[in-house]
Amino acid sequence: MNILLLGSGGREHALAWKLAQSPRCDALWAAPGNPGIAEEATCIDLDATDHAAILKFCDEKAIGLVVVGPEAPLVDGLADSLRAGGVAVFGPSKAAAQLEGSKGFTKDLCARAGIPTGGYERVSTLADGQAALERFGAPVVIKADGLAAGKGVTVAMTMEEAEAAIQDIFAGRFGEAGAEAVIEEFLEGEEASFFALTDGATIVPFASAQDHKRVGDGDTGPNTGGMGAYSPARVLTPELQAEAMTRIIAPTVKTLANEGMPYSGVLFLGLMLTAKGPQLIEYNCRFGDPECQVMMMRLESDLVELLHACAENRLAAIQPPRFSDDVALTVVMAANGYPGTPEKGGTIRNIDAAEGEGAKVFHAGTAMKDGSLVASGGRVLAVTARAGSVTEAQASAYAAVDRIDFTSGFCRRDIGWREVAREKA
Ligand code: ATP
Repeated sequence: MNILLLGSGGREHALAWKLAQSPRCDALWAAPGNPGIAEEATCIDLDATDHAAILKFCDEKAIGLVVVGPEAPLVDGLADSLRAGGVAVFGPSKAAAQLEGSKGFTKDLCARAGIPTGGYERVSTLADGQAALERFGAPVVIKADGLAAGKGVTVAMTMEEAEAAIQDIFAGRFGEAGAEAVIEEFLEGEEASFFALTDGATIVPFASAQDHKRVGDGDTGPNTGGMGAYSPARVLTPELQAEAMTRIIAPTVKTLANEGMPYSGVLFLGLMLTAKGPQLIEYNCRFGDPECQVMMMRLESDLVELLHACAENRLAAIQPPRFSDDVALTVVMAANGYPGTPEKGGTIRNIDAAEGEGAKVFHAGTAMKDGSLVASGGRVLAVTARAGSVTEAQASAYAAVDRIDFTSGFCRRDIGWREVAREKA
């Protein structure tokens, strides 16, 4: 089968690497891709917002499956255009992608379906927002309704921070994404991510992971797209996973199907493990980045078979995903200045020397310039290793990091710290 993958990050490099390993994959294209993806696929210039151009490409190359990496094209309805054109696509429709595209939509759905999540109010004016904040009191969470690349959320420990956050949203800082806001109850606990595949009827658990959102060691400093992750997240025990499946994922999939917007693709749950059990923080409608990198390192099943079965509504007919018992851990190397203004153009050397011994380097913001590999974005590399424990995978990932010559970059030195502490205990 000929496959087209959309995206250019570390997540897409991991997907390309795994898709290309499948005997079902005859030819793989990626748009726009990156230098790492180019080792697995033919990279082409296609604009994900130009649905007609993508359909034309699919027709010319007899594409049997389109895999959409990031959320924006899904929220924009690309999967609908492809399906209408008769092309199989892994990823939800525009209606179902509202699970990620509108935080208010998801909260309302949770309320209708009785899904455990924090209390909330949707507001569309500053005055309503301020009144809601008075009712909640601090600590409280304020979120722009739409996609804001992780920047639209404020966890306010004081009323002053809360007031500033609601002012920001209604002053237009997030544009259309902030036309509405959600005020949410503050939930306390450890966070973990859980992933499931669904074709709208059948649901299969995929894997668990734990991300590290803050830029600095010890979870300090501003939020980022993610500085590292590991999988599985053992804090999400089999019992908690079963609870998430029955109390959160199953009612979500059922409600969406009943309401005429069946969900097809991967469901990415951000969970807070509270004293009252797992509560939903958020849904994403795509694989996480960098969670995808660690899950792909552990996946033993044929990724093409899984994603194609999702796209063709026949998930019930195939074997569920199988994973290695090993742990995978990834360390993100970012360009100096990230998450503010990252320094571009810094050279990167010795990636080949870093690989081997169970390590794999996925490219994110890299580019080729005059024959050299350089940094072209905030998050640049995801240095990933597999081993029998988080402690060993962490040591192996950092040994690989230390073999890479990227002087204008940095990374956290403590990815996996919670689990390393638990393994020591
Ligand atoms: P992402 O970049 O992961 O997509 P997002 O912008 O979609 O982020 P959320 O995941 O909803 O936003 O929130 C971001 C972070 O804020 C969460 O990972 C969590 O740490 C914190 N958070 C969100 N909601 C709550 C809550 N109700 N209680 C406590 N913390 C919360």
